[in-house]
Amino acid sequence: MTGEQTQPAAAHDADDAPVIVRLAAVHKAYKDVVAVDHVDLDVRQGEFFTLLGPSGSGKTTSLRLIAGFEKPDRGVVELNGVDVTGLPPYDRDINTVFQDYALFPHMTVAENIAYGLQAKGVGRDETKTRVAEALRMVRLADYGDRSPAQLSGGQRQRVGLARAIVNRPKVLLLDEPLGALDLKLRQEMQSELKRIQAEVGITFIYVTHDQEEALTMSDRIAIFNLGRIVQTGTPVQVYEEPADDFVAGFVGTSNILNRDGKRLILRPEKIRIVAEGQSIGEAGLHVEAGRLVEAVYVGQFTRYLVALADGTEIVAVRQNLDRSTGRFREAPGTKVQVAWRPDSLFELRRFEPR
Ligand code: ADP
Ligand code: MG
Repeated sequence: MTGEQTQPAAAHDADDAPVIVRLAAVHKAYKDVVAVDHVDLDVRQGEFFTLLGPSGSGKTTSLRLIAGFEKPDRGVVELNGVDVTGLPPYDRDINTVFQDYALFPHMTVAENIAYGLQAKGVGRDETKTRVAEALRMVRLADYGDRSPAQLSGGQRQRVGLARAIVNRPKVLLLDEPLGALDLKLRQEMQSELKRIQAEVGITFIYVTHDQEEALTMSDRIAIFNLGRIVQTGTPVQVYEEPADDFVAGFVGTSNILNRDGKRLILRPEKIRIVAEGQSIGEAGLHVEAGRLVEAVYVGQFTRYLVALADGTEIVAVRQNLDRSTGRFREAPGTKVQVAWRPDSLFELRRFEPR
């Protein structure tokens, strides 16, 4: 372990936790569009579980089936081991945070958060305590008296979150909640959400099409394509051992090498690149000759497109550790050597489109 990758799964022993949400052979079509195609899914208590996939792959529909806003054509939805397929949303111990966290504009932040508790008949004192607690948790302790119009986008999103967690649901569903925020704020909110989830211990089921967001936040990820789950695993598993071409291409950048009738995936950061004749500086590596097609300086790293002897083009990245060392002429056509550890290769199954 290098210590670079935090291991959220170790924070709680999710492997032993009971299954809290289960989809069993769930199918949902809108006329002739199959939105969710025979999906099986187990989410364990306390997990930060992410549904990741491209637009239209069935993530939102799956979430709506869990929440009870949609009924499956076939299959079963279970909550805590109980079949809830026929139950309406308000009879499920689940809350949803949407991207357009529609706050009531004429109410203060605190009133917005209290609204659900009042509707449920929770007493005044307890409501006050729980609202204060929720505000503290989303780091808006001093904002209770403001109106939503006086908040930034990120703050409004946190109020939306506070409004959901104040109900202390067993499961919180979040559908691309950070999609409307700019990059910097989105990254801040990713850490915030992760922290809040760990603190409240509520199971989060999180939808995103952003692979980096999924990798950084999740205990486990289910990857959707064409209404199906193609792989479920920890961030490390889906990145290092993608189940098929689709996952390899969707989660991160992949080079695919065809060798000995096998299809092998090799991630750009596993490749060393040096000028022809230069020492790789490490023993036991597989070395090949190539020519630079392109070099793109990205700041933290430089990205190289290299043509190998057999014509395969691969992407390699190199961290810009120092300003001068290891530099070589980056003009197209420059002869280089690329090298990798044999165990960096991972054999891919073929993707079978239906
Ligand atoms: P995602 O959230 O992954 O982008 P969705 O679950 O929203 O995907 O949609 C999956 C598929 O189902 C898409 O092809 C979408 O157009 C279709 N779909 C979703 N909701 C409806 C609906 N209410 N009526 C018709 N088609 C829908
Ligand atoms: Mg969606």
